[in-house]
Amino acid sequence: MTIERTLTIIKPDAVAAGHVGDILKILESDGFWFAATRLVSLTKKEAEGFYAVHRSRPFFESLTTFMSSGPALVLVLERENAIARLREVMGATNPAQAAPGTIRKLFASNIEHNAIHGSDARETAAFEIGFFFPGIKLL
Ligand code: ATP
Ligand code: MG
Repeated sequence: MTIERTLTIIKPDAVAAGHVGDILKILESDGFWFAATRLVSLTKKEAEGFYAVHRSRPFFESLTTFMSSGPALVLVLERENAIARLREVMGATNPAQAAPGTIRKLFASNIEHNAIHGSDARETAAFEIGFFFPGIKLL
């Protein structure tokens, strides 16, 4: 298995609630290396650009308003099998369905305010890393 990179965002709800340290601890303990990081305050337009794939979904307006509601911490994570492993550590989109011990089970409030984002495939990871870190050299 080769080393992969993925993108995570500790979303505005988790930053506002003071869960950044706890979430970073979980990721670091699971073997993720923090290859790059940025604290961002997305504009509505930037949030719409990032989540463009969801633009026709009924929750798009609400999601992009939420994602531009305050500071969020963006990281490029590096690990073996990083993309799939991050999704496991995050847990299901809806915290009501998330497995015990996952970040969303521990820190998410609801299906929208769900604490963390993770890329869902190699292509989306490449797009999302380029979105926030345009100069970074990809593996
Ligand atoms: P993310 O892409 O943020 O890692 P995900 O891949 O688990 O989450 P997606 O289906 O890609 O879930 O949805 C993107 C985000 O949109 C979710 O994380 C959540 O914040 C929001 N969302 C998803 N479904 C709903 C819904 N039914 N109602 C409100 N918000 C939703
Ligand atoms: Mg997704």
